[in-house]
Amino acid sequence: MKYIGPDFCNITSSLTDEELLIQKTANEFVSQEFLPIVNEYYEKGSFPLDLIPKMGELGFFGATLPKKYGGSEISSNAYGLIMQELEKGDSGLRSVCSVQGGLVMFPIYQYGTEQQKEKWLPLLASGEAVGCFGLTESNNGSDPGGMKTKAVKDGDDWIINGSKMWITNGSIADVAVVWAKDEEDIVRGFLLEKGMEGFTASDIHGKMSLRASITSELFMKDVRVPDSNRLPNIEGLKGPLSCLTQARYSIAWGSIGAAIDCYETALSYSKDRKQFGKPIGGFQLTQQKLVYMIEEITKAQLLALQLGNLKDSGDLDFSHISLGKKNNVAIARESARLSREILGANGIMDDYSVMRHMMNLETVYTYEGTHEIHTLIMGQKITDIPAFE
Ligand SMILES: Cc1cc2nc3c(=O)[nH]c(=O)nc-3n(C[C@H](O)[C@H](O)[C@H](O)COP(=O)(O)OP(=O)(O)OC[C@H]3O[C@@H](n4cnc5c(N)ncnc54)[C@H](O)[C@@H]3O)c2cc1C
Repeated sequence: MKYIGPDFCNITSSLTDEELLIQKTANEFVSQEFLPIVNEYYEKGSFPLDLIPKMGELGFFGATLPKKYGGSEISSNAYGLIMQELEKGDSGLRSVCSVQGGLVMFPIYQYGTEQQKEKWLPLLASGEAVGCFGLTESNNGSDPGGMKTKAVKDGDDWIINGSKMWITNGSIADVAVVWAKDEEDIVRGFLLEKGMEGFTASDIHGKMSLRASITSELFMKDVRVPDSNRLPNIEGLKGPLSCLTQARYSIAWGSIGAAIDCYETALSYSKDRKQFGKPIGGFQLTQQKLVYMIEEITKAQLLALQLGNLKDSGDLDFSHISLGKKNNVAIARESARLSREILGANGIMDDYSVMRHMMNLETVYTYEGTHEIHTLIMGQKITDIPAFE
């Protein structure tokens, strides 16, 4: 079997047949089920919900988790390849999967009780239930430690008040992992269930990016949450940050998919499109753009593979993930822009995917830690001096 996509440095030789088969499955799902409808959903600003159980059936959600909880115990590189294929389709499609797996299933698996795991993980894995992750607030994005959402103990329950902003899948979620501060200002994670009194969500409209994805605001007004819905095995900001490390891993791989789709579109267009009597791919200036893309995609692939290897050997540090998220999103964003240039006027049309990727990648550049925040994480790692404040 061969790696699907540009393989300048023989990535195929670093992957197992099982990993390549998983890539093929995800690739076929995206081409057959998603690409025919993506423009319709992008235009109307929503997500095709019937694809969620289909992705569950294919094993995309929480795929590295134990089979006992609905996972498939696949390698981190295989999981990365799924993310890559989904984001070749659209960053919104990959977001659904990385939120469900990295931001909802992971904290329940890692920090939840056995009852919480048994109740939610199989449902989330199969796509019968949808999850969301509520960390960001309207006044606290890059600095979640300043969150205002409060959880106050009342007998065996907690009373939660506050709101969360920019929450992927918020309004369709059956379970929300919500982070709140207790009376001693300690950050704690809670599982809020759809229908709990005082817990509501409304969708955010007017996005010019990641349109084929549902983004919501969550409101909590005196929501009574039993202590059995608290994630007992974690406290402090390291809880949500460790979840973000999982989801950022998905982005480090996924963004390569968007870059590949832009590169392949531009390469093929540049061979067909003629100006001044020859294909535009024959001009040095066009080749320089295409070469930038293949160079950066190849480096991003090698980096992603190493992140996967480190993850499986237990040696992955969150600063490695920052490098992957920061670099791979930045090169995807630049590749989308260059690809759009190569396509000329056609590049702005929805007949091609490049403008959609370009718009989406503005979100991807910002969420899950902005490009600047990942620079600061790496800066602290190498100097031992935090420069956040
Ligand atoms: C479509 C979409 C979906 C999202 N989904 C989710 C979700 O499911 N769950 C969730 O919890 N959140 C989600 N987010 C929120 C996202 O994680 C935040 O937008 C992100 O953390 C940045 O926060 P902010 O937008 O408030 O920007 P700010 O934190 O206000 O940052 C604004 C600018 O200031 C810069 N900046 C901030 N601090 C510093 C500093 N110390 N030094 C230098 N520069 C700095 C930033 O890099 C950025 O350029 C989503 C966002 C979007 C757009």
